Amino acid sequence: MIVDSVLTNAKAYLKGQIIDCSIAIEEGKIFKIGKETQMPNADQKTDLKSLLVLPGLIDEHVHLRDEGKAYKEDFQTGTAAAAAGGFTTVLDMPNNEPVTMSVDSLRNRMALAQRKILVNVGFYSEFPKKLAETEDIVSEGAVGFKLFMGSQIGGLNIDDDEALQDAFKKVATLNVPLAVHAEDKALLKSNEEKLKQAKKDSTAAFQQAHSEAVEAKAVERLLRISAPTGVHLHFCHVTTKEGLNAIAETKKTGRKVTCEVTLNHLLFSADDLERYGQLLIMAPPLRSRDQVEALWKGLDQGWVDALGSDHAPHALSEKSASSVWDVKVGLPGLETTLPLVLTLVRKNRLSLTRAVELLAEKPAEIYGLNDRGRLEQGKNADLTVVDFNRKFTVDASKFKSKAKYSPYDGWEVQGKPVKTFVNGLLAFDEGGIVGKAGSGSVVRRGNP
Ligand SMILES: [Zn+2]
Repeated sequence: MIVDSVLTNAKAYLKGQIIDCSIAIEEGKIFKIGKETQMPNADQKTDLKSLLVLPGLIDEHVHLRDEGKAYKEDFQTGTAAAAAGGFTTVLDMPNNEPVTMSVDSLRNRMALAQRKILVNVGFYSEFPKKLAETEDIVSEGAVGFKLFMGSQIGGLNIDDDEALQDAFKKVATLNVPLAVHAEDKALLKSNEEKLKQAKKDSTAAFQQAHSEAVEAKAVERLLRISAPTGVHLHFCHVTTKEGLNAIAETKKTGRKVTCEVTLNHLLFSADDLERYGQLLIMAPPLRSRDQVEALWKGLDQGWVDALGSDHAPHALSEKSASSVWDVKVGLPGLETTLPLVLTLVRKNRLSLTRAVELLAEKPAEIYGLNDRGRLEQGKNADLTVVDFNRKFTVDASKFKSKAKYSPYDGWEVQGKPVKTFVNGLLAFDEGGIVGKAGSGSVVRRGNP
């Protein structure tokens, strides 16, 4: 037998250990992992020269934009950023133009993506206007639903507890997770109104509006309303001790609840707004040092399931509006996440085992991506190859993303993604994109 390719001299992360091995790939799948002498003949051989091979990383929180927001990012630039950052699968959020919240909008988005993507992409949907359509949206392949609680985006009335509970019951029957942005709209809007009336429009005003209570209230409400429904809630970007504790307590009862934190909320605190200004405006916002410590503690204790980048690219001008209320929230993150995480591993702030769990294994589990997230025979040949020793300086001007700025610009990091294999094919190699537009797969729920 002759397989498509064999990668030799790998140091591969297998079941928590780093093993010297070779990897044979056939038709996009891992055919065999073993000694070089055990490898079948191959059309192509690549010597990995003792580089570290991780399971292809999965970012479960990415805004790829395109369509009406293509000036910020499109499927090609966003997935180029993913490949360059070592991510082989990303999950796309639905707050697009148009909002992904119907079979039609999902289908159009998938078709457009299929022509452009360089890595695998799965799609979230917001709630449709008619709850029954959630069934068709899942049949079409959405990997989960996303619910924004801070503002009305989809078709579900977020002010109505009963409507929320009906929706949660429905999603529970569809066996997909429901990712939630937990900020309480009523409290947030009333905070904003007061501050606007007092003519406050500094970054401090934004921080006050998006208070800790805004998050805590939404987390409490979501946990309470969902309690009898059986829905799997996945809390995006948790930022407070109160929020995280409520989630941890609920987990202890055995309910299906998971959560994500972002590196921004772990590596910066509200104090950094003084230096970075509106660049660091995000929602939920950066918190006090105490809260950051609590997040780290939650991460160390295992309450956190995923580390999303919340890659949220905007035009630079949108980050520098004259009033903070007009500043677009969020930052690009796909090209900085892995180097920053590897640097934290180097500093013993995080174990490699935990990093792989947060960036690959758990996201695959949460979203039912059963053929991804681990290096095992038979799984998709999604591989993230890194040079664990390589030091470099983050240079945002070189990003593949359209958003060429970052608060991490100029940071010294150690650990660089050097090759990214997507479904067995090289998508990114030593600084350059080598994959063809459309070579990534649209990842559909239940049909990987
Ligand atoms: Zn987001």
